[in-house]
Amino acid sequence: MRLFTASLGTESNTFSPIPTGLSSFMGAYHHGPGQAPEIPHHYTAPLHAGRRRARQEGFTLIEGSGFGTEPSGACAKSAYEHMRDTILDEIKAAMPLDGILLGMHGAFVAEGYDDVEGDVLERARKIVGPKCVIGVELDPHCHLTKKRVSLADIIILYKEYPHTDFMPRAEELLTIVLKTIRGEIRPVASLYDCRMIAFFPTTMEPTRSFVDRMSALEGQDGVLSVSLGHGFPHADVPEMGTRVLVYTDNDKKAGDALATRLGKEIVGLRGKTSPKLLSVGQALKQAATVDTSKGPVVIAEPADNAGGGSASDNTMWLQALIKRGVKNCAVAPMWDPQAVAFAHTMGVGARFRVRIGGKTSELSNKPVDCEVEVIGLARDGLQSFGDAKTPMGDMACLRIGGEIDVVVLNHRTQAFGLEMFTLVGVDPRKKSLIVVKSAQHFHAAYGPIASRVLYSETQGPSTQNYATHPYKRVTRPLYPLDPKPGAGSLVL
Ligand SMILES: [Zn+2]
Repeated sequence: MRLFTASLGTESNTFSPIPTGLSSFMGAYHHGPGQAPEIPHHYTAPLHAGRRRARQEGFTLIEGSGFGTEPSGACAKSAYEHMRDTILDEIKAAMPLDGILLGMHGAFVAEGYDDVEGDVLERARKIVGPKCVIGVELDPHCHLTKKRVSLADIIILYKEYPHTDFMPRAEELLTIVLKTIRGEIRPVASLYDCRMIAFFPTTMEPTRSFVDRMSALEGQDGVLSVSLGHGFPHADVPEMGTRVLVYTDNDKKAGDALATRLGKEIVGLRGKTSPKLLSVGQALKQAATVDTSKGPVVIAEPADNAGGGSASDNTMWLQALIKRGVKNCAVAPMWDPQAVAFAHTMGVGARFRVRIGGKTSELSNKPVDCEVEVIGLARDGLQSFGDAKTPMGDMACLRIGGEIDVVVLNHRTQAFGLEMFTLVGVDPRKKSLIVVKSAQHFHAAYGPIASRVLYSETQGPSTQNYATHPYKRVTRPLYPLDPKPGAGSLVL
């Protein structure tokens, strides 16, 4: 039995001011055939599951290339086509194949391609034919298009948000692919479109219970897999939105009924799944009432989340902390390669005047010019997220007025792990207030140390105030953009 695996992933924010090209992938996650590092990341999870089980279950795994990068704008056409054709050539060279395992994000948009994953699957299917079993692992912030669901044999999404479960989901994918190849099961898809966009953190209700119920259905009554596609709201593509995907063992009628039931449950949760978004002033007021002796108040800033395609250099929070004289606080991460370079030039302990943030676009607000003390420096920092280690590049902690720490990075990323602080000489547990530029993934590491978690709204291309996006191509009506979005329907 011969399986091939490759990865190609990013989450394209079509409103982002940051361009995406081949250098974005080469500078983030790239490996050639057979050269994937030992530590997995989200897109290489199927490869690592396959690598671990190939020998013990007696199949051959051919490892192809991997390409992944941080979310940013729609990708240049030539860059996407180069990566796609590299993988397709590797598939051709690996033939004959019984199965393919693809690690993708699922919200990759390139110039001229609204549905990159559908395009890859269409071309791969032409090469391998209808019998080869194609399994795909995606992030729940994906566009579950009819095209990709029709072309793959099985698609499994991470269930947790923060996405800490990418390895167990990859293991499930591999198990289903192997059973399908052996003729033990026949996965059949049912897809329900909920006609909505929403934020579904699994660290709180009602999403926590929904996901637990969804998981409990698997393995019962012929249900092979159930996924909730949150959708990625920062992309102006026709099939953007929340969808429920169910696979049964060749029981389309039961799958349709279950996808419809769960889809209607999600429709019933409209407006109930997001935490309250506070203004900067409201968040500071609430934070002031919290006893922080056992840990900081952690305030998320989703609108400037690099993990949603934002620049991560908006200064609204930093300005407010300086203006109000907030003590013992921090903002992280601020993407500012120039400030990082200046800090490394000056060295730890140096004091100098520097311009921080506010550089990428009008959504970044104004830069902050101030005197800083260099608290700590690091090169090629890595932070933990589930089983993954993600790059932060070169880093510096800059302290303003003896009280406000700003962690600047030269690799644009969001706050995942506590290494964001510890590598540059700061113990985040001892802070009173920390602002993290992240929508929800910060929660895996920062939730446990926080005395309270709050969510704030500033401005940026990953704002959760979706109605401010200038959508032109999204299929309407859609909740919460339209007054009568409708109840949703089965689309496959
Ligand atoms: Zn996601």
